[in-house]
Amino acid sequence: MNKLIEPNKNCSKCRRLYNFRKKNQSNNPDWFNAPVPTFGELSSSLLIVGLAPGLQGANKTGRPFTGDYAGDLLYKTINKFNFSKGKYAGTIDDSLKLKDCTITNAVRCVPPQNKPISEEINNCNNFLKKTIEIHKNLKVIIALGLIAHKSIISALNLKQKLYKFKHGNKHKIDNLILIDSYHCSRYNTNTGRLNQEMFEKIFFEAKKELKI
Ligand code: URA
Repeated sequence: MNKLIEPNKNCSKCRRLYNFRKKNQSNNPDWFNAPVPTFGELSSSLLIVGLAPGLQGANKTGRPFTGDYAGDLLYKTINKFNFSKGKYAGTIDDSLKLKDCTITNAVRCVPPQNKPISEEINNCNNFLKKTIEIHKNLKVIIALGLIAHKSIISALNLKQKLYKFKHGNKHKIDNLILIDSYHCSRYNTNTGRLNQEMFEKIFFEAKKELKI
């Protein structure tokens, strides 16, 4: 992915995340332990925005959702809707390639307890803004969860109160369609807030909007 849209490997904009990274680097020196770069092609018409890397998933492997519990459902669904080829195996050197689809996170560094604070979400927003801008063919964005939704609205310089998050909501924003989904986290699937059928419906709607 293009360097312009990624924080530098040793980014220290967020003191708490920087310190957490240093701790993780010393505890697990063979893990990726850096801002996890966007995955996909700049020519994609679909962008999927998650929350932040999981400690033992994307933060370990270096690819969004890869090795994370949430990645199992996400990559299975992406494949079912023909947005990928090859095989997802939870490691960065598997044969998975995305097709016309890019995956990124609202916050690029792993946060303690999977919870970025507002300041960190704001600090990272410019990278999401640049990511959206650089994808010139973008037609549909899927927001995975409330924080991703709000981050996208901020990145597009829009008013939060005009775009409310609701699972399945579609927001028309100029030439873009933003589709909201509950995050495909273990918590949401275990509690029944999100199931596979509901998640697939989001991708069905994305396909419909992309007219493919
Ligand atoms: N892994 C990611 O990369 N992002 C998420 O939002 C969750 C897990």
